Formats: sequence, C-alpha cells, structure tokens
Amino acid sequence: MTPGVRLVVLGKQGAGKGTQCVRLSHYYAVPHISTGDMLRANVRTKTPLGLDAKARMDRGELLPDTLIMDMVRERLQERNVSARGFILDGCPRTVVQAEILAEMLAPMTLDLVVELDVPTELVLERIASRRVCTDCGHIYSTSEPPVVKWVCDVCGGNVVQRDDDTEEAVLRRLAAYEAETAPLADWYRAHDLLTTIDGVGSPDDVLARTIEAIESRRGWGRS
Ligand code: AMP
Repeated sequence: MTPGVRLVVLGKQGAGKGTQCVRLSHYYAVPHISTGDMLRANVRTKTPLGLDAKARMDRGELLPDTLIMDMVRERLQERNVSARGFILDGCPRTVVQAEILAEMLAPMTLDLVVELDVPTELVLERIASRRVCTDCGHIYSTSEPPVVKWVCDVCGGNVVQRDDDTEEAVLRRLAAYEAETAPLADWYRAHDLLTTIDGVGSPDDVLARTIEAIESRRGWGRS
C-alpha cells in the first residue's frame, strides 16, 4: 500500500488547490481536509459556527485562528488521522495557524508544504468560471459543466457559483492571501518544508509534478 503523507497545500484562490487535493488524497489514501469545505458544511446545516462564519466568508475575510485550529484539531483527532496522514487544504492561512499546527502534530512533522504557483490573471479567469456542488463540494467550470445541466455528476446535488466567488470578494481574498498567507510560504521555506510547483497546465500534469516533488523529497530525506 502507498505510504501515507502529511501534506499542506498552499496557493491563491483558484490555483487549483481543491482539485489537486482531491487527487492527492486518492493517490495517498489519506483524507482531504478542507477548512473551507468544513465551514461551508456548517453554513449549510446552519450550526452556530456556520451562522457566525457566513457573513465573514461571504466578504472573503479570514476567520479567527483559534476557531479554525480548534476545528482542525478535532478533525485530526478522529481515528488518529494525523498518524497515517492527511492533505490539508486552505489551512494554515496565517503564521499563527502554522505554529499551532506544528504544536498539534509534535513529535510528528509535516512531510512537505506544496505551494501551487499560478499567475493572478489566470486565477481570476478560473474563479469567474468556477462552479461547485453545494452538497459534496465537487468542482466544475462553465467550460466543463456536469453532464446534466447544473446537477452534480457525483451526488446529484445542485451545482452553483459560490457566494464568495463574486469579483469583489475574490479581490478581497486575493489581497488577504498576499497580506497574510504569502508570509506563511516564507515561514515554511525557513523551516525547509516548502516546495513551489508550477500550477499552470492540465490537472494531470500538475498532479504528476506534485507527486514527483513529494517522492523526491522522501528519497532525499532517507539518504
Ligand atoms: P476556501 O474555500 O479555502 O477559499 O475558504 C473559504 C472561506 O472560509 C475563506 O475566505 C475564509 O473566510 C474561511 N476560511 C477557510 N479556511 C480558513 C483558515 N484557515 N483561516 C481563516 N479563515 C478560513
């Protein structure tokens, strides 16, 4: 069986994180943990957390570090997920979250942090055409819609544009990424955990590049 992996995937909104994380989680047989998906599930089922988070999410603002990391801690503790591994998507978003995650995992560490690099113009194009299933989170685009118009191929749910994929909210999220998340890449680089992958190309090509980076890192780690 493929060994598991403890991986964080970073990248601007629309860099293809969601798509790559799903594929990586199948490849390594570890759960895909997306804080955005977890929050949207809370919004959908109208939990107190979801009701509290919705307005800030719609505006494209980050939620408090402790709230996010408590949610992640609970998820990592389920059936000891952190031991075999996980693909963490959308978290950490700040250096404080990265520090809390490192404490949470100790004495284990992440295997690698992958940053998907895509130019902002391409990201804006991708987000404008992005559509997503409200039930299972499967991602589509206007150029590759579900077979039956706006009915999810995977689960039959409704496929829509995300409330926070408006141009205004996207620009705010990109600014938040530059201000709060880009320093995170520097932090992981300083901890010798970061690798940057060219995120332009077909999903298969980007996946192959990512797996190659992970495996060469593991080989390097063993030598
Ligand atoms: P995403 O699907 O990752 O783009 O997340 C959607 C929204 O959820 C973000 O714009 C934030 O409002 C919130 N969110 C998700 N993950 C985090 C995080 N790690 N820290 C703070 N806010 C988050």
